[in-house]
Amino acid sequence: MVLFDQRKLLLDAADRAIRYYESLPQRRVAPSPEYLAEISVLYEPMPDGPSTAAEVLAMLDETGSPASMAMAGPRFFGFVIGGTLPAALAANWVAAAWDQATGLHDVTPFTATLEQVTLRWLVELLGLPSGCGGGFVTGATMASFSALAAARSTVLSQAGWDSESDGLFGAPPVNVVVSDEVHPSVTKSLGLLGLGRNRLTRVATDGQGRIRPGSIPRLCAPAIVCVQAGNVNTGAVDPVGEICDRVKGPGIWVHVDGAIGLWAAASPRFEQLVSGVDGADSWATDAHKWLNVPYDCGIVFVQDHQALRRAMTIDAAYLPLSEERDPSHYTPELSRRPRGVEVWAALRSLGRSGVAEMVERCCDHARRFARGLEHAGFEILNDVVLNQVLVSFGDPDRTTRIIEGVQREGTCWVGGTVWQGQTAMRISVSNWGTTEDDVERSLEAMIRVAYECP
Ligand SMILES: *Cc1c(COP(=O)(O)O)cnc(C)c1O
Repeated sequence: MVLFDQRKLLLDAADRAIRYYESLPQRRVAPSPEYLAEISVLYEPMPDGPSTAAEVLAMLDETGSPASMAMAGPRFFGFVIGGTLPAALAANWVAAAWDQATGLHDVTPFTATLEQVTLRWLVELLGLPSGCGGGFVTGATMASFSALAAARSTVLSQAGWDSESDGLFGAPPVNVVVSDEVHPSVTKSLGLLGLGRNRLTRVATDGQGRIRPGSIPRLCAPAIVCVQAGNVNTGAVDPVGEICDRVKGPGIWVHVDGAIGLWAAASPRFEQLVSGVDGADSWATDAHKWLNVPYDCGIVFVQDHQALRRAMTIDAAYLPLSEERDPSHYTPELSRRPRGVEVWAALRSLGRSGVAEMVERCCDHARRFARGLEHAGFEILNDVVLNQVLVSFGDPDRTTRIIEGVQREGTCWVGGTVWQGQTAMRISVSNWGTTEDDVERSLEAMIRVAYECP
């Protein structure tokens, strides 16, 4: 009886999820006000007693599905989000049923091995040095945090200081260089690591947000230089190879925030954009953005895998350590879900050519957006080198009103930004399912809203 009910419940959950997933291409992107008003039903007291799981599921789906933002859908162009590939979603469901706490290889050998293999595939796909260490974390923020912990450990140990054992009080100061365009997740990570959000040397960037290598001062070790592959506004990539040639030496570490842009390496058409990136010491990227796996999943890579291990290692008598790779030695978490499962499923289903096509398709859609909007008389503020487009509709107020109008109209969803002093609409194309028709429908809506805006 109980088993029968569980099966019915889980099939009902799958059915509801499939209906939602299938509705994404048709539905409006932002939830309409009447559904948003329903969110208030959540403000009820904690129930005194149980309800059936079927009732709970029905409440969640009936209130939550229509009130959700269709982020997973093909016309959500806000931030850099991405949807969920069918293989990744299916893998997520099965892995959730497995419930494998993948910290220790010998306890969860299948998922630990699968993550190890997947990391190896990724190193190759993204053109990173073979032998890189890595780990699956919650996102690029934690990936940068983990990489910068390895950086801190290494540059300080080269200065004769053991930061893992002795902390930072009394340590030699570490010089940290970032650009004017550093992503806030990197400064946050530096703050968490005791390297400070503000005690940074900020170097100048060009009109696309790329570091001007000449503006990096002569560095004394210990030092960490943070560069980026894929500016969150323009998609531009720092000249990483040139920067590495200029700065690298004993006690100086180069870290790449490649949340978006590292995926260019997976495409023969776009790999040129990130040439030289493999010369760095560590890299952070996201799988939940451009690889289109469900939230959350980021990946850290460190060229010297021992450095990552030194920074992240955990020891306790009750933990049965393995000869194999124990994931808990490479990530901040001890207990963690095996995020590599969905990444494996995405890579296994797409293959090399499929990842390349997905990246190229998104970049082609971005160019189509730029051409369409330019043709309609609006200004594109960036060189569209990747999946990002910045559009100005004139003065800041007008641009803001048009962005809000597009969000309200519902065909698609875009956000706003300020790029080098100019208010802009920002279009990010990173969903596997976006078609040319989605781009055309969205363009039509954007242009109509803009022409109707007083
Ligand atoms: C999204 C993003 C981050 C942060 O990644 P999370 O996955 O949100 O932690 C860092 N850098 C860049 C360039 C990004 O686009």
